[in-house]
Amino acid sequence: MKKKESAKAKEEAIINEMVKTEGSVITKEVAKAKEEVIINEAVKTEEVVKTKESVNTNEKIEKKVKKHSKLRLVSQILFFLLIGLIATNHYLSETGRNLPLIGAISLHGMCPYGGVETSVAFFKYDMFIQKIHASSVVIMVLILGLGVLFGPVVCSFMCPLGSIQEWIGKIGKKIFKKKYNHFMPIKLDKILRYLRYAVLIYTVYLTTNSLRLVFLEVDPYYALFNFWSDEATIGGIIVLVIVLLSSLFIERAWCKYACPFGALIGLTNKFSVFKIRRNASSCISCGLCSHACPMNIEVESKTVITDHQCIRCLECATDVSCPVSNTADMKITSYKEAKDEN
Ligand code: SF4
Ligand code: SF4
Repeated sequence: MKKKESAKAKEEAIINEMVKTEGSVITKEVAKAKEEVIINEAVKTEEVVKTKESVNTNEKIEKKVKKHSKLRLVSQILFFLLIGLIATNHYLSETGRNLPLIGAISLHGMCPYGGVETSVAFFKYDMFIQKIHASSVVIMVLILGLGVLFGPVVCSFMCPLGSIQEWIGKIGKKIFKKKYNHFMPIKLDKILRYLRYAVLIYTVYLTTNSLRLVFLEVDPYYALFNFWSDEATIGGIIVLVIVLLSSLFIERAWCKYACPFGALIGLTNKFSVFKIRRNASSCISCGLCSHACPMNIEVESKTVITDHQCIRCLECATDVSCPVSNTADMKITSYKEAKDEN
C-alpha cells in the first residue's frame, strides 16, 4: 500500500512537470492515463517480488519436508526388503536353494510379538512356545528399549505391515481426498481403538496356555511374507486381504484396531523419554498437524502427545506438516510434565 502511494506521488510530480513544460503536447488527461499505467506496473512489480519471495519460502519448506519424509520412507523400504528377503530365503532353504550370506531364519525367529508370548510362557511354565526362538525375545527387548526412549517408532519406521498399509493408503488419499481416513463413525472408532488390547490379552492367554502359536491362524504379518508357501494359513491370508483393502479407506486400520504388539508398544507413549510436544505459544492453530496425523489424533489441542495410538511417525512435526519452526517436535519430556501440561 505504501509503495502504491509513493509511486502515485512520484507520478503526480512527473505529470505536473510534463504539463508545465512549454510546448508539450501532453494534456493532463493523457498524463493521468500514463500515470495509471505506471502505477499499475509498480504494483505489479511489487507483487511479482512478493510472489517470488513466497515461492522461495515454500520451496525451502518443501525441501525440508521431503528430506524428513524421505528418511522414514527409506527406513520403511529397507526393513520391508530385508524381512521379505529373509522370509524368501527361509522358504528357499527348505529345498536347499537358499542364497548365501543372507539369513534364512523363519519369521517366527524375528517376531517381537512371539517374544512377548514366549516370555509370558517362560514366566508361567518355564517353557518356550513352539517355533519361537530366543532371537524373538532379543528383538522384543530391543524394540521395547527403543520404545522407552522414543515411543513406538518401530510402527512408523520399521514394521512392514504398517508400511504396506501406508503405501496403499496413498492410493486411497488420491481417490477419496479429504474424506479419506474419516469413514469410521466417531463413536464406533473410539470403541474399536481398544479392541487391540482385547486381542493382546486373548492371544497371550490362549498361546501361553496351549504353548502353541494360536495367533498364527489369523496373523496377516506372517501371511504377507509367506502367502505363496504352505506355511501361511487361510485365516492369515483372509485377514491380510481385509487389512490391505481397508487401507484404501482407513489409514493403518490394522494398527488402529487389531495389532496386539502395537497395543503393547503404544503404551510407551505415556512414559517414553522423548515425546511429541506442541508449543502452544508459537502455535497458530492452523490444524495442519491434526490433519496430517494418520492416527486421527487432535495434535493441535494437546501440549504433549501421550495418546496410546501415536506411532511417532512425525508427520505432525515442524518441517513436515507444521509450518512454524520449533512448534511441534519430539523433545525430552517427563511423565509428570506430560501429565501436568495436558
Ligand atoms: S501424533 Fe504425530 S507422531 Fe503421533 S501418529 Fe500423529 S502424526 Fe504421527
Ligand atoms: S501445525 Fe503447528 S502451528 Fe499448526 S496447529 Fe499444529 S502445532 Fe500449531
